[in-house]
Amino acid sequence: MSEAARAYSEADEQAILDAIAKWVDNEVKPCAAELEHDDIYPQALVDQMREFGLFGATIAEEHGGLGLSATTYAKIVALISEEWMSLSGIFNSHLMMARIVEQYGTDFQKEYWLPRFVTGEIRGALALTEPNAGTDLQGIRTRAEAEGGDYVINGTKTWISNGIEGGAVALLVKTDPDATPPRRGMSMFIAPKADSDTGRPHAGFRTGRKLEKLGYKGIDSAELVFDDYRLDARRHLVGGEPGKGFYMAVGGLELGRINVAARSVGIARRALKEATAYSQTRETFGQPICQHQAIQLKLGEMATRARAAELLTLDAARAYDAGERCDMEAGMAKYFASESAVENALEAMRIHGGYGYSKEYPVERLYRDAPLMCIGEGTNEMQRIIIARQLVARNPV
Ligand SMILES: Cc1cc2nc3c(=O)[nH]c(=O)nc-3n(C[C@H](O)[C@H](O)[C@H](O)COP(=O)(O)OP(=O)(O)OC[C@H]3O[C@@H](n4cnc5c(N)ncnc54)[C@H](O)[C@@H]3O)c2cc1C
Repeated sequence: MSEAARAYSEADEQAILDAIAKWVDNEVKPCAAELEHDDIYPQALVDQMREFGLFGATIAEEHGGLGLSATTYAKIVALISEEWMSLSGIFNSHLMMARIVEQYGTDFQKEYWLPRFVTGEIRGALALTEPNAGTDLQGIRTRAEAEGGDYVINGTKTWISNGIEGGAVALLVKTDPDATPPRRGMSMFIAPKADSDTGRPHAGFRTGRKLEKLGYKGIDSAELVFDDYRLDARRHLVGGEPGKGFYMAVGGLELGRINVAARSVGIARRALKEATAYSQTRETFGQPICQHQAIQLKLGEMATRARAAELLTLDAARAYDAGERCDMEAGMAKYFASESAVENALEAMRIHGGYGYSKEYPVERLYRDAPLMCIGEGTNEMQRIIIARQLVARNPV
């Protein structure tokens, strides 16, 4: 079990999942399609998630969080993503920022930031990607230069989820651009838009344009520009010393990959449910289409993929909770579950015939949301490479 997680009983876990399922049914279901199609930030749902404590879901109880295990958390994420995947993105990226402070921050930083993160008073994200560097994180150019006890930051990040609506990001920068290998010269800052003591906005932190996307709507993705943005090291440089940022970013990605796998499970399961239901009501040639063998083959494959994706995700979460090294397990879960989400979404659309292409049915949304799961938290190309490297490392001859 990770340090943050407390052992909830099975009954406790079920009670939490039941409460979330009820909330999804009563509050999310009635408005998800409209908000998604209009690309509107779901403020009322975010406020309700704050009340539930979802912004502190995986933060330890000693800091005011719920201290949920990765396993329980993954089940919650899958449940919410079955209805609307974007919603889980709003707290997933926030919790990755929190995880970095909880795992690597100084005692002062934990006490300073975590209670603010738990309540959702400050919500945020992970700001790694730049216009010229995504997969190759060591190629980033954002630079932080030491000046007395402060750092002055210049650079641009892009694709940052929660970048507009959020109040802070965990910001990966270069503090020593000449370091070899480059990762040794990288550092992580908690970068708020306004000074968290005085509330005064930081002039050097500018939110750029909101990026238009195929899916993953409702949640904002933005460019962030840092222009002589000044932060004091004591509060903001995670861990208090430079040079550790790359490891913090990569360390947080294991949980991030379990999150993405869980979101994918939600999409894959929903596609299956929609297809199963529709195939029993739509008739062709005198019988429901679920009686046609071609449709049965699709449903059989979809059900197997959804279940296998779920089991791989739970396996990775279990390893994470046990404190085991789980980059291979998280990579397998993320890779398989996201490909399953894409395939199931496409098959659900085919099973719906022309109606699958209509905005009236949820399958078109699943189809637009699913591909992002193959890209975020490390592309699926990289996942297979990580899996292979671990496979060899764990099985030397
Ligand atoms: C909607 C959305 C939300 C996002 N949210 C965030 C966020 O909150 N924070 C954040 O920091 N980033 C975020 N991202 C960025 C995302 O993490 C990157 O897009 C992703 O890491 C890929 O980087 P890239 O786009 O620069 O692609 P590139 O790194 O340029 O890769 C292009 C292609 O080359 C392949 N490739 C690259 N290197 C190799 C290699 N060595 N071997 C084999 N194949 C390789 C990749 O798999 C990919 O297919 C988001 C992106 C999107 C679309």
